[in-house]
Amino acid sequence: MAEEDLQDQTLTCSDCGIQFCFTAREQAFYSERGFVPPRRCRTCREKRKSSAQGVPKLGPGAHSTQSAPTDTKERQYFQIVCASCGVETTVPFKPDPQRPAFCRKCYVSRKRNSSSERTASSES
Ligand SMILES: [Zn+2]
Ligand SMILES: [Zn+2]
Repeated sequence: MAEEDLQDQTLTCSDCGIQFCFTAREQAFYSERGFVPPRRCRTCREKRKSSAQGVPKLGPGAHSTQSAPTDTKERQYFQIVCASCGVETTVPFKPDPQRPAFCRKCYVSRKRNSSSERTASSES
């Protein structure tokens, strides 16, 4: 790519339709960095640049995703069907196939109820 071959080009802005000069110097600059030739005039590029900064593309609430907890990725969840109420849920531990799995709600209520029963009928 010899710079001497480059000549000023007249391009038409795809935004406002005016013709603008894409100089040989700019062409060299663009090709050097692997950029594609601009499709918009300088005015429109500046306009888009400034408007892009003012209006976030992701819309409102984009900032809240930045502080999303990352520990959920490391924690593994297992899908279970509650043996008591039959609801499908996930538990943060590997369910024991020997024991029935319960959802959080049933687990807590059973634990509370069985604590008195267990002492009465001691398992062998
Ligand atoms: Zn333009
Ligand atoms: Zn349940």
